Amino acid sequence: MAHLLCHEQPDTLVLDTEILDAQPGRVLLQRSPFYPGGGGQPADRGTLEWSGGVARVTGFEPGIEGTWHLLADGAEPRGPVRATVDGAFRRLMRAVHTDTHILNAFVFRTFDGALVTGVQIGEDGTARMDFDLPDADNDRLRALEAPINDAIVQNLPVRFTYVPMADALAQRGLIRTQAVAPPPTPDGLIRIVEIADLDRQACGGTHLAATGDSPPIRILKIDNKGRHNRRVRIGLVRPPADP
Ligand SMILES: [Zn+2]
Repeated sequence: MAHLLCHEQPDTLVLDTEILDAQPGRVLLQRSPFYPGGGGQPADRGTLEWSGGVARVTGFEPGIEGTWHLLADGAEPRGPVRATVDGAFRRLMRAVHTDTHILNAFVFRTFDGALVTGVQIGEDGTARMDFDLPDADNDRLRALEAPINDAIVQNLPVRFTYVPMADALAQRGLIRTQAVAPPPTPDGLIRIVEIADLDRQACGGTHLAATGDSPPIRILKIDNKGRHNRRVRIGLVRPPADP
C-alpha cells in the first residue's frame, strides 16, 4: 500500500487534483483524499466536481497505476477536479475504527494475547470483531465496556509510524491478524498505529488523532461462533460531533 493521504492527513477532506487517466464512469487521480476500503473498514463516500459537472464517487478499484475511482451515472469528468470526502461518514469511521483498536487491546490484555480472527465495521457505525477465545467467559468480555470508555475519556493520543515488515513479524502481537494487516508499502514498510501505551498494531485504516474524539461505546452483543470464536459487536452511543 502506498502512503495514502487519508493516513497522513485524515482531516483533509477537500482536494483539488488532476485526472491521470479516465474511462467512462471511472478516473485515476493524481492524488486522492479518499480511503479506498479494506481491512474491515468501508470505503469513504464523496463526490468529484469539475467545470460543468459533479458525480458521486461510488467505489474504488485497485489498478496497476493506482486506485480507480468509480463514478455514478457513467460520468466523464475532464480538466481539473475537486475531490470531496463525506466528512460525517469519515468521522464516524475514524471513531468506530479507533474504538475497535481499544476493544482489541483490552481483549488482548485480559485474555492472554487472544488474536483477532475477523473484523468488520458497519456503515451504521457499529463494528463486529471476532476473537480466538476458547472457553472465554462472556461476562468478562462484557465487563470490558467500562475500561474501553475510560480509555476514550482519557483522550489518549493516536500516532502512526512505519517499520520494516520483518521487524513487525518478529514482534508478537503487532500483527493481530492477517485479515486486517495492511499490505506493505512499495519500500517494504508496514504501517503501525499506536494508542499511547495501550495498543500498538499494524493497520491500514483511518483513525482519530486522539481517543477523546470518539463518543462512548456500548458492547451491543456477544455471540459464540464455534468453539473457539467469540463475536463482539460494539456501537457508538451517538454519532461523533462535528469538528
Ligand atoms: Zn486500525
